Amino acid sequence: GTSGWRQRLSGSGIARSLSGLFRRNPALDDDLLDEIETALITADVGVSATTALVDDLRARMNKREFADAAELFAALRGALIAILQPVSKPLLIDGSARPFVIVTVGVNGVGKTTTIGKLARKFRDERRSLMLAAGDTFRAAAVAQLQAWGERNDVQVVAQGQNADAAAVAFDAYQAAKARGVEVLIADTAGRLHTQGGLMEELAKIVRVLGRQSSDVPHEILMVIDGTTGQNAIAQVRAFSAKVPVSGLVVTKLDGTAKGGVVFALAREFGIPIRYAGIGERPEDLRVFDAATFVDALLP
Ligand code: GDP
Repeated sequence: GTSGWRQRLSGSGIARSLSGLFRRNPALDDDLLDEIETALITADVGVSATTALVDDLRARMNKREFADAAELFAALRGALIAILQPVSKPLLIDGSARPFVIVTVGVNGVGKTTTIGKLARKFRDERRSLMLAAGDTFRAAAVAQLQAWGERNDVQVVAQGQNADAAAVAFDAYQAAKARGVEVLIADTAGRLHTQGGLMEELAKIVRVLGRQSSDVPHEILMVIDGTTGQNAIAQVRAFSAKVPVSGLVVTKLDGTAKGGVVFALAREFGIPIRYAGIGERPEDLRVFDAATFVDALLP
């Protein structure tokens, strides 16, 4: 429910600055709007989203729509939820797909491996059969790490040696998952900078090779983004989307020091569904993204 989120997100920049404001029971004036504007910008909501939000609040304030600051905050809450509503679309696993194929992509360090572990646990809890493809053939030890993890958690991992062709690994895994009637296949890919042209081509090849199996494969290209990286996250999504059809996002590290506001900027800029939020390092710290729950966890 909301309580777990609230506890985790209360430390975030946007929550802290807004709740500080609210507690002072401020007067309804331009200073209040300036402070809200600063809080939103500081939290990485982005200039264009912030300007739109604050301009709208100003117009309504000038029309005397709000009796007090609490009413203005309620309007802000509604406007923030309205931005996120269109991207609050959970990932629905089509049980008839067998395997339902999820390709995870993202830059190194964003929390991709952690997120795969969280997803694996979630699918296991839902009693779905699962297979992983160790597509991070680039990083030494990444394959061995995933294999060891799979053994500990009783999840099948398809792997080839280091420096194997990642598209071949994904292809093999798809064949194996199909032969065994596995419900969900998560194909990992090497983390790469969005500026690394060769690696971005390799990613496109993985998706292309899988697509030759069936036109609806992969069913989901899930991009993992670090919620603390602000506008850089926007650049990452733009570059990855230019190469492969990213169909869902996971925004990690929304707990603690995260600025959180990048979620609003992402929603406005791309409209790509935000499937999950990462709110901690533990396997259970993954939440289905929901607009109202997220906004309520941020606001006082
Ligand atoms: P990868 O390089 O993208 O595979 O990133 P990792 O999965 O290795 O994660 C990088 C670091 O971020 C690790 O220290 C994780 O524990 C941490 N991390 C991942 N997700 C979250 C999250 O939602 N919240 C927090 N606080 N830390 C996270």
